[in-house]
Amino acid sequence: MHAYICTTCGTQYERSADPPVSCAICDDERQYIGAGGQRWTTVAALRASHFTTWRQKEPGLIGLGTSPGFGIGQRALLVRTPAGNILWDCISLLDQSTVEAIRALGGLAGIAISHPHYYTTMVDWAEAFDCPIHLHEADRQWQMRRSPHIQCWGGDTKPLLDGLTLIRAGGHYPGGTVLHWGDGADGKGALLTGDILQVVPSGWVSFMWSFPNFIPLSAGSVRRVAAAVAPYRFDRIYGAFFGRVVPTDAAAIAARSAERYVASLQTERE
Ligand SMILES: [Zn+2]
Ligand SMILES: [Zn+2]
Repeated sequence: MHAYICTTCGTQYERSADPPVSCAICDDERQYIGAGGQRWTTVAALRASHFTTWRQKEPGLIGLGTSPGFGIGQRALLVRTPAGNILWDCISLLDQSTVEAIRALGGLAGIAISHPHYYTTMVDWAEAFDCPIHLHEADRQWQMRRSPHIQCWGGDTKPLLDGLTLIRAGGHYPGGTVLHWGDGADGKGALLTGDILQVVPSGWVSFMWSFPNFIPLSAGSVRRVAAAVAPYRFDRIYGAFFGRVVPTDAAAIAARSAERYVASLQTERE
């Protein structure tokens, strides 16, 4: 029996003798089945072929990635506060050295994830650190592995530890969530956004229903995402991937990015 992991999106499923027939996350319009057809792996196989990379992003914030790249290729972020550590988003590979290193830093007080593409092996992580996983209830149908560690929340915001707030912004997924870190960016505030506000190479952000299939959101949906984060003070945005950061003036850039997007949707081009 293995808890099989989809190699395209990194999602782990319930333990079974044989791999699942298909991956519901990849069968959805927001993802895709890899060109070679549906493939599966296991944590044991991943541990033999991959390792975890650590990068300090700023004081109190460490990025955790997988090398060579695996699945969608996102990195998780370890947010360190005086009240405890939160893992923001998740990655499929959890190796023993990472377990020991995070334990040495005080373990995890909780895991919070922006949307189902990054649910990955969250149950393994929660079991290793005996901590809750905070997921928005609007995306409950995409939880592929049950666990008593999963704590669904509803409504528009949820305070986590001191200075950390989960904000439901929607868009890419109905429960699309971002994390506001009030002490980030030297006290000017940071927003950790996953794919919900996607940091693009120009240093702006974008918003999509499906990134791989280039299916945009409506003007109303983009306005709702922008309105959800507008009340918060933040100078920096950390997107889903290493190197995708809006380093400063991020609140104004997010607002301008939403306005540009909506204007473009309403522009007829020849
Ligand atoms: Zn998948
Ligand atoms: Zn996504």
